[in-house]
Amino acid sequence: MTALVIVGHGTRSAAGVDQFAALVERVRRRGDIGDVEGGFIELSRPPLTDAVGALVARGHRALVALPLVLTAAGHGKGDIPAAMGREQQRHPGLTYRYGRPLGPHPLLHEALAERIDAALADTAPADTAPADTAPADTAPADTSPLDASPADAFPAGVDRAGTWVALIGRGSTDPDANAEVAKVARLLWEGRGYAGVEPGFISLASPSVPEVLDRLRRLGARRIVVAPYFLFAGVLPDRIVAQSAEFAAAHPDLDVRVAEVIGDCDALAELVLERHAEALGGDIRMNCDTCAYRVLMPGFADKVGRPQRPHDHPDDPVGHHHHHGHDHHHDHGSVAVVGGGPGPDDLITVRGKALLDAADVVVVDRLAPQGLLAGLRPDVLVIDAAKVPRGPSMAQDAINAALVSHARAGRRVVRLKGGDPYVFGRGHEEVQACVAAGVPVAVVPGVSSALAAPALAGVPVTHRGVAHDVTVVSGHLPPGHPDSLVDWAALARARGTVVLLMAVDTIAKIAAVLVEHGRAPETPVLAVQDAGLPGQRSVPARLDEIGTVAAREGVGPPAVFVLGPVVALTTTGPST
Ligand code: SAH
Repeated sequence: MTALVIVGHGTRSAAGVDQFAALVERVRRRGDIGDVEGGFIELSRPPLTDAVGALVARGHRALVALPLVLTAAGHGKGDIPAAMGREQQRHPGLTYRYGRPLGPHPLLHEALAERIDAALADTAPADTAPADTAPADTAPADTSPLDASPADAFPAGVDRAGTWVALIGRGSTDPDANAEVAKVARLLWEGRGYAGVEPGFISLASPSVPEVLDRLRRLGARRIVVAPYFLFAGVLPDRIVAQSAEFAAAHPDLDVRVAEVIGDCDALAELVLERHAEALGGDIRMNCDTCAYRVLMPGFADKVGRPQRPHDHPDDPVGHHHHHGHDHHHDHGSVAVVGGGPGPDDLITVRGKALLDAADVVVVDRLAPQGLLAGLRPDVLVIDAAKVPRGPSMAQDAINAALVSHARAGRRVVRLKGGDPYVFGRGHEEVQACVAAGVPVAVVPGVSSALAAPALAGVPVTHRGVAHDVTVVSGHLPPGHPDSLVDWAALARARGTVVLLMAVDTIAKIAAVLVEHGRAPETPVLAVQDAGLPGQRSVPARLDEIGTVAAREGVGPPAVFVLGPVVALTTTGPST
């Protein structure tokens, strides 16, 4: 049977570490799996690397790694796989199958119900009997509220119907993990006869413990059991006890009790074995549909595609001082120079959109997709760099300075540009400015209008047997201009496709020079204006007539001109 390494997060609580070790021993004693080790990714001993090292030393090359976590959040999705990845580097040839997080699972729900019943049975003092329990003189002797409950398998004396449960999860910045706690609350309530079960969180998510207790109080609860949805003892379960006690002290009319954590028990060992078998079966899935690392969720876009890095265990050979709990990207500002695509909101890349959604500051060009700004959080600072052609209202230096200073202030800055940032977008000047200032900077390519505008108008810029080259040219300087860097004569001799940007004012001169140097006067040209936008239109003409036709038709920016034999292939059907 493939060896099992049980991976814990680690805790500052000695009791929690002992419970973990006891569970590992319990699983080992079951004898179903030949070899079992347990280790932590941080805080506690033994470190994962020792556990894996021991299994490798005993000859194992294939393992099941089971994250001993209730919900799939950052630790289960990222930190533990990253730590296992590091073990694989240490032990070439090591493979592992990754197990699914433990919950939700009926074994856990039943264990929770037992802990809740125990809390009810243990400590119910006669003089705090809740007021909503039917008084003896009005209830028929043979029908207690217990008998009326749909669940009848719980210990006598435990009044579930008069009990509300606050199920308290760890809380996460991962919405999917929080949703799992809500799901468990529901599953715990189904068929068990509690007055109700409400989810809450001890950190990072709301409602907090006092908030959920107050919610239950307002719903009319007189007796509440706070049930920590935790495997083992630890700092956070201790905090649940403390906050519950504080709330109880402030509300003497309420009977508030705290249940034990799930703890080392047979049910948990059983579930570990089940997850081990499941991992070997091969078909295990987490809830990918609502995984924040995969799917854009409102407010969590910065997680999409974020690389996972292993935690550093203090006992790990590469370990160094580690600040757990920081979202590292928040500590340092950064700049992303993002290509927004040619205009429509949905032609930005997934990466660009994720960065945009996570941005604190967005510096935007006029030609960038303006519709994307409507989706920004209200607290995002939007700076309009409105650079209309030849009329810069904000000098490039000022833009560069704004990018650098906001990033230095710790903000996530997105420089949103039209099309691709490096196609006549001055994107690299901004990148260079950031590099020179020591500010972390990334470029996110975009769909350039140079290729997209012809495509959206039904023109392929290359086509088999028709054009084997495409040249993207800026027309912002007319031929013959002393600053021009374009070899117009060479373009005239070339046979393929030419795409002209920023050429609305110069197209007549450019066309004339191309004809003069040998391009056929009848070469088809298509002007494409406002590509991808509601006003998109195309104006066709021969090369020797495009200047006159474009002027007559009032072609205005933004527009591209595409010329060459591919224009004869223009389709109108599936273009937009
Ligand atoms: N970086 C941009 C280009 C910036 S230069 C990109 O990769 O697309 C600005 C020129 O881009 C305009 O003068 C025009 O030629 C072209 N352009 C941008 N958006 C356009 C659109 N929606 N339709 C047609 N042309 C567009």
